[in-house]
Amino acid sequence: MSSAQAIFEELDFTYAQDNIYFQTIDSILDAADRLALPKRLKLILSQPKNELIVHFPVSMDDGSVRLFKGYRVQHNNVLGPYKGGIRYDNSVHLDHIKALAAIMTVKCALMRLPLGGGKGGVQFDPRSLSSDELMRVTRRFTSALGTNIGPDVDMPAPDVGTNAQVMAWMADTYINLDTKRKVSGLSVVTGKPLSFGGSMGREKATGQGLVYVLEEMLPEYGMSIHECTFAIIGFGNVGSWTSKLLHERGCTLKAVADHTGALYEEKGIDPFALDRHVQEHGSISGFPLADPISEEEFYCQRVDLFIPAALEQMIDLEKAEWLRCKVIVEAANLPLQQEAESYLLGKGTKILPAVLCNAGGVTVSYFEWKQNRQSETWDLDRVDRRLKRVLIQAARRVKDMAKQQQCDLRVASTCAALEHINEVYEMRGIFP
Ligand code: GLU
Repeated sequence: MSSAQAIFEELDFTYAQDNIYFQTIDSILDAADRLALPKRLKLILSQPKNELIVHFPVSMDDGSVRLFKGYRVQHNNVLGPYKGGIRYDNSVHLDHIKALAAIMTVKCALMRLPLGGGKGGVQFDPRSLSSDELMRVTRRFTSALGTNIGPDVDMPAPDVGTNAQVMAWMADTYINLDTKRKVSGLSVVTGKPLSFGGSMGREKATGQGLVYVLEEMLPEYGMSIHECTFAIIGFGNVGSWTSKLLHERGCTLKAVADHTGALYEEKGIDPFALDRHVQEHGSISGFPLADPISEEEFYCQRVDLFIPAALEQMIDLEKAEWLRCKVIVEAANLPLQQEAESYLLGKGTKILPAVLCNAGGVTVSYFEWKQNRQSETWDLDRVDRRLKRVLIQAARRVKDMAKQQQCDLRVASTCAALEHINEVYEMRGIFP
């Protein structure tokens, strides 16, 4: 019986083996067992501290009223206030958000940020709403969350389907609800627009962090970031910035896919031109400087790096069997289904886990929060230098743990995070 099964049985909670929350907690508790960490830590981490579900009505442009369902899950705050994105997507549901919140706990701890893990979302397709409707959903959701979020409590950020504009509406709503916090209320969310308390470098931060991690990790595999080929799924904020920054370092983007299809160009696709196309047309479809290919052809491309930068659980066993890459670089959280991951590790493919590779986003969010609280504005050079330092130290921590434990990098990342969380629990003890 796995560690998570034993704990959930004791708590009288039932989860199916293919449930994403069960699988996420299972891998966290496995790492805890490997380090022989105390049972109380496993019990605490097995469930989020708070799960908030809200239902709220919104007036639509045509005069009708629609009821929305929103979530905010606060997994753990032993290291500091909860932190994590808010997503707008049709696929949002409770166990999914719980899994992502637990991953944020691991990610913040691995980076040694003074932050805990949270995640939230509203279940709808943001592309189907007008900008005014989107604003009303955001304001109503923020007011429904009320004081469950706040600059010392829980700070949301952009995620799938949300952006700097959504964060500006959230901050404005929060400030209007709590008039005593006219100035300090700004840091209730990060990823805001630059002119309204945002940080330099936040928009590109996830892609930038991923590049710093690759610079540190690829030489281990005898590879150089200056001459890699890569394929990427997802060309939103993370996918486009990752592609542009890798291209600037000399990598070649051979193939790209999004929800509309896939494209290939042997000589390489210019990600800057593709980004302009996506800004104008909303997807990669119809980009004239590459050839459309099938999904199977996309996955079968022989490339050095394969970068999932879209939604969770996209790669099942069949797709994993198609892959011909040396390294999988997880820009998105949980992109691999469990059997896909076991298959790939079994055939020797390296997997760089999301808690390390995409932690640039939350790290620059932390810098933004810090700047807001200290009324400071850092220049881009300062943000990038600090980001690089945080990520390189984390990457080295993971490499050391992998050597010490003789394990893969996902297990090593989780172990390196849990070691820190446990140390803090040892010092703080359990209240009262
Ligand atoms: N949504 C991003 C993540 O999942 C960023 C979170 C944040 O900046 O707080 O890592």
